[in-house]
Amino acid sequence: MSTIEHWINGTATSAGSTRTGPVFNPATGAQQSEVLLADAADVDTAVSAASKAFETWADSSLTQRQRIMFRFRELLVQHEDELAKLISSEHGKVVEDARGEIVRGREVVEYACGIADALKGSFSDQVSSGIDVHNFRQPLGVCAGITPFNFPIMVPCWMHPIAIATGNTFVLKPSERDPSASNFVAKLYAEAGLPDGVFNVVHGDKTAVDTLLDHPDIAAVSFVGSTPIARYVHEKATASGKRVQALGGAKNHAVVLPDADLEFAANHLTAAAFGSAGQRCMAVSVGVAVGEAGDALVDVLKDKANDITVGPGDDPASEMGPLVTRDARQRVIDAVATGQTQGADVVVDGRDLTVNGYEDGFWVGPSLLDRVTPDMAAYQDEIFGPVLAVARVETVDEAIALINNNPYGNGTALFTSSGAAARKFQREVHVGMIGINVPIPVPMSYYSFGGWKDSLIGDSPIHGPDGVRFYTRTKTVTTRWPDVQRSAKDAATALHF
Ligand code: NAD
Repeated sequence: MSTIEHWINGTATSAGSTRTGPVFNPATGAQQSEVLLADAADVDTAVSAASKAFETWADSSLTQRQRIMFRFRELLVQHEDELAKLISSEHGKVVEDARGEIVRGREVVEYACGIADALKGSFSDQVSSGIDVHNFRQPLGVCAGITPFNFPIMVPCWMHPIAIATGNTFVLKPSERDPSASNFVAKLYAEAGLPDGVFNVVHGDKTAVDTLLDHPDIAAVSFVGSTPIARYVHEKATASGKRVQALGGAKNHAVVLPDADLEFAANHLTAAAFGSAGQRCMAVSVGVAVGEAGDALVDVLKDKANDITVGPGDDPASEMGPLVTRDARQRVIDAVATGQTQGADVVVDGRDLTVNGYEDGFWVGPSLLDRVTPDMAAYQDEIFGPVLAVARVETVDEAIALINNNPYGNGTALFTSSGAAARKFQREVHVGMIGINVPIPVPMSYYSFGGWKDSLIGDSPIHGPDGVRFYTRTKTVTTRWPDVQRSAKDAATALHF
């Protein structure tokens, strides 16, 4: 069985690690490799390499950094097939979906290719007689990224291209469930000419995370994952004086008004709820049917959920893959059972799904629960699986109130043909990313990504302009250049008289 090593100072290494964790193929249910789990000393080795590399990388020219990013971007294009298959084999998502996340991650690299523009400072001429003021941004030092399993390429790409292009060095601690993609990225960076030690990967669990959060040589921590861990990371790392951006979980509502094109809305809700088996932070997990949209919407959703082909991620016929682990599968099955016990109608039940030839895979089929109410666990919990809960309300105001009373505020969507309703919705809803007739409103890389309330702890969204601000700090310089000859003459004249 192969062992997935760390990547420190430009080379794959086991450092001093003795502990390992299993990495599964979710479609077969079999363990396919083991990943090293770093101890504190291994993390320290990576941070030391990154600290050393920072001494020269912080002084590299903008042109050099951009050229490396351009080369890295080209390598991501060249290796897209291989990388997509690698992601699919450990995560379970279909290869086409893995390809999609590579493209979205690459867009952040493309933003980093233009970092010289994003880093321009400002200048004020003659703020007082003979005095000018300008400012510029400098990197922080060694930055750490701690990332979830669900987008093993895209989410780390929200962090490292911006951190590195702004002159920092980076230590990534990816999810231990699908760790291989991060090592692949490290090799591509090396091939692109990134100096050793600028990008490092340490694999591990809570031990590695805690060591990073407390480490005196880490300047900033970027975290994406579930809300309880986001809160923990934010508290612990800010307590040790670090900058922190911490993005948490979600419960995204898609509201369908009676004036919407129901077929169009249902197509998008189905893709957004069941794509990647619902394991997306922007997945639609609650459909809010307003007024008479209810029965018709549930009927169409039922047909579409039943039509989804579930199978292994590397089969081009598959539209949805398995859950990431056996535990995740059981958690989703339990959530559907609890929903039923608490009074929801189970319209489509994916609990007993099996896939021929893959009997031990971590399967749950698309599941549709109707008449879900806010007091039910199926409404309150982030199930993070292929379960769409439908709640019914009478008015758009009730729909907005439902969303605003939910503790999460990552994404939301409205399906309507009314501009007035859309305008009211986007102004009144307490959510960070909103789609109007767009189900998964993921902003482009030149905007920043981040939710409200329990979906983002602290105040920093990720990548785009907020990413540049997060990974740099400003110096403001006030300058006077006295005319030396003239000052001397003035002084002599003053003496003479
Ligand atoms: P997770 O919180 O379990 O793990 C995230 C990272 O934290 C991993 O690297 C993991 O090793 C580490 N970790 C886990 N438990 C820890 C602990 N007790 N102490 C220290 N570190 C710990 O999340 P996950 O299951 O990998 O990913 C799914 C979650 O991520 C969902 O809640 C999803 O909504 C969220 N997510 C959010 C966004 C967003 O943009 N807001 C994006 C992607 C995923």
